[in-house]
Amino acid sequence: MNVPAYAAPAAGEPLAPTVIERRAVGPNDVLIEVTHAGICHSDIHTVNGDWGPQPFPVVPGHEIVGVVAEVGPAVTRHQVGDRVGVGCMVNSCGECANCLRGDEQYCLDGMVPTYAGTDRDGTTTQGGYSTHVVVDADYVLRVPDGIDSAAAAPLLCAGITTYAPLRRWGAGPGKRVAVVGLGGLGHMAVKIAAAMGAEVTVLSQSLKKQEDGLRLGAQHYHATSDPDTFSQLAGRFDLIVNTVSAAIDVDAYLSLLAVDGTLVNVGAPPEQLSLDVFSLIGARRSFAGSMIGGIALTQEMLDFCAEHGIGAEVEVIAADRINDAYERVLASDVRYRFVIDTATLG
Ligand SMILES: [Zn+2]
Ligand SMILES: [Zn+2]
Repeated sequence: MNVPAYAAPAAGEPLAPTVIERRAVGPNDVLIEVTHAGICHSDIHTVNGDWGPQPFPVVPGHEIVGVVAEVGPAVTRHQVGDRVGVGCMVNSCGECANCLRGDEQYCLDGMVPTYAGTDRDGTTTQGGYSTHVVVDADYVLRVPDGIDSAAAAPLLCAGITTYAPLRRWGAGPGKRVAVVGLGGLGHMAVKIAAAMGAEVTVLSQSLKKQEDGLRLGAQHYHATSDPDTFSQLAGRFDLIVNTVSAAIDVDAYLSLLAVDGTLVNVGAPPEQLSLDVFSLIGARRSFAGSMIGGIALTQEMLDFCAEHGIGAEVEVIAADRINDAYERVLASDVRYRFVIDTATLG
């Protein structure tokens, strides 16, 4: 079927309306009528060519929420009319050790990204800035009642990206967690860590968003531009989640960790980072990374967010504002995620 979409025709060019073809619904496929698609910073990096050559035209969008319109005969998990979501991946081999463990995002054969990827049938994937998408049922999540669709869309990338390390490194009562950066990822990290029961501190460049940070669930807020922050908070945290995609002084942040503390990067700076190994061995600290999360964990995250009344803070826009929204994301002028009302695409 041919469906309306917004695509980047070439690297760095503005997105424009187009029509793309979606495959026929296969035995284990779900046809989703998309209602909302979040704008992730990765979308912008990809269409700007920051991450290398892409199979243009590219339809971005990997924070997708919609309603099931059709299911293949082998699908048992989803029914027509269900509210569902799709995140950053739409397929993986399903057979390797990582897939079998539920870490499909680390598939040894390479997971299939939701857009600008090559699907297992050889076709190029196109993302959620469109009215419909066809996805293998095993990669489609249930969106529980209790989360608004627009607020749910960013959970599919920003939500799981921050939930996964918070869960893995045990954010919870009695744990001191710091979140570096209060943007799309950071604001979700604060909400989720607070809901898990941790004592949450925001470490941001300035105090500009302090009021927001405290409202979202942080107890403390410090400016990293103030050198006193690093002496005051030395050795304090069990876990630091760094959501910033620019280079940081790794040693300075490691110095904020208690013994056995972990600094986890979910932000992906283009530059190499370096560190002094003494920053690790002096207090048995770890420096780690984490990328989105597996399908089962993503479902757990959605259920957790519904149970705790958590959604993203969003600004819903019409499709013809996508290019403006990209400019504003690059200028950090969004609190905290743009979501496209895909009804405006048609
Ligand atoms: Zn993303
Ligand atoms: Zn695999």
